[in-house]
Amino acid sequence: MLVDAVRIAIIGAGFAGLGMAVRLKQVGIDDFVILERAQDIGGTWRDNSYPGCAVDVQSHLYSFSFAPNPDWSHVYAPQAEIWDYIQTIARRHAVLPHVRFGHEVVGGEWDESAQHWVLRTTKGEVRAQFVVSSMGPLSNPMAPDIPGLDTFAGHTFHSARWDHDHELAGKRVGVIGTGSSAAQFVPEIQPEVGRLTVFQRTAHWTFPRRNRAITATERRLYRRVPLLQKLARARQYLFRELIAFGFLRNGRSRFLEAIATQRLRRQVPDPELRAKLTPDYALGCKRIVVTDDFHPALASPNVDVVTESISEVVPEGVRTADGVVHELDTLILGTGFEVMPVADPLCGRDGVPLAKRWAQRRAAYLGTTVSGYPNYFMLVGPNTATGHTSVLLYAEAQIEYVIQCVQHLRHTGADSLDVRPEVQDAFVADIRERLKGTVWTGGGCASWYLDPDGGSSVLWPGFTWQFRAALRRFDPADYRLHSVATP
Ligand code: NAP
Repeated sequence: MLVDAVRIAIIGAGFAGLGMAVRLKQVGIDDFVILERAQDIGGTWRDNSYPGCAVDVQSHLYSFSFAPNPDWSHVYAPQAEIWDYIQTIARRHAVLPHVRFGHEVVGGEWDESAQHWVLRTTKGEVRAQFVVSSMGPLSNPMAPDIPGLDTFAGHTFHSARWDHDHELAGKRVGVIGTGSSAAQFVPEIQPEVGRLTVFQRTAHWTFPRRNRAITATERRLYRRVPLLQKLARARQYLFRELIAFGFLRNGRSRFLEAIATQRLRRQVPDPELRAKLTPDYALGCKRIVVTDDFHPALASPNVDVVTESISEVVPEGVRTADGVVHELDTLILGTGFEVMPVADPLCGRDGVPLAKRWAQRRAAYLGTTVSGYPNYFMLVGPNTATGHTSVLLYAEAQIEYVIQCVQHLRHTGADSLDVRPEVQDAFVADIRERLKGTVWTGGGCASWYLDPDGGSSVLWPGFTWQFRAALRRFDPADYRLHSVATP
């Protein structure tokens, strides 16, 4: 069934997809749809509603530069407010009528003769000259591969699908995982539950958050003098770029590690627990957990931190390698996400789905275009994150790049562009080389940043300004242009 024939199909109505839509509107391109599998917009900020869910990058920076919000209530806004911001900009820029809800893209092919994509969705076919995939790098929750998980007699849910109807008060609750999500919800549920057992596989470095309310006076000033908000954003941007200095070389950031270690000493008086919570790899190797209350919560009398590895889940609870069964009523999985781009279902010129091509390692030019996949763009694709700053800085640079590509085709009259394989290969080889000297690949940890071969197709091995500079000007020489008339 043919549902739509449009110029641009954006996949995903999360932060990046909606940002793309807003910018298309602003430059006068109206012929697009957003294909969204859910029934509402917001992506990860719709799905993650666990207690304490908030951004861990300052909100002035974790928002679009073309849609500043002078009314953030806190330096680090809570989830509900971020979701509200997303909905507000979608409404303000009239992109909601473009969203096709319940349209999950399950496959798609490039039609060479017609020079457009044929996308298969759960609600029918969509033909589009351009596809912008903004499916989110971390949108599908990942259940751990632990034997017996489905035999648990109590209640289980993932942090990204929080069961708000499930009562935790007084219960014996287990949490698997100690990453950024668990660090936010554990301090919230700890005072409420009867006993909390936190299963930690790897200790994480933490860094101070120091969240505070933004005063009414500050907000008034930001509304009246937008330059002041821009300056606040610039200060946060520069501070975070400085942190990247430590990550881009493969050595230990002794100064930052000393701050984190001293804080741990203050927050956790018990030396045995402190030893468990002390990482044995370089700070920055895994994503730093930004928190002030996680370790104090773990040090509370009703909490056990278990570092024995989990051998299985049994009906009564979790059995660890020492044979102990930790009895539980509820088991919460704070076990993270699939790294999304591998799930992309579209087939390129040769009929190979991207997921298959990328089974071992993802590769894209400027994190945005993929050779053999004409007129296909990814937002927050491979090598477009650094963990130290706002991912929206990367997404915004990509959005502007996509607009340049679309406008270039309009001006030249060509129908499609496809990045030259040698250009992509050279780019990827350079990235791989530069990553060798960073803390992410050499810091002595395992992380979701890494590919099976020890490289990384997630991270950008530079400062964000370098990424933005690389995408600032679209160079037609990097691409092969085609049109129906001149194949
Ligand atoms: P995560 O960082 O991937 O952490 C998953 C945790 O689960 C880790 O502690 C991991 O241990 C553990 N784990 C996974 N499988 C396990 C198993 N089989 N057995 C035992 N432990 C297991 O996931 P997340 O905390 O949900 O955060 C994911 C990302 O989302 C973050 O890195 C961040 O980019 C983003 N995030 C952002 C915010 C924000 O405020 N902006 C908030 C939350 C999340 P190992 O460390 O040993 O792998």
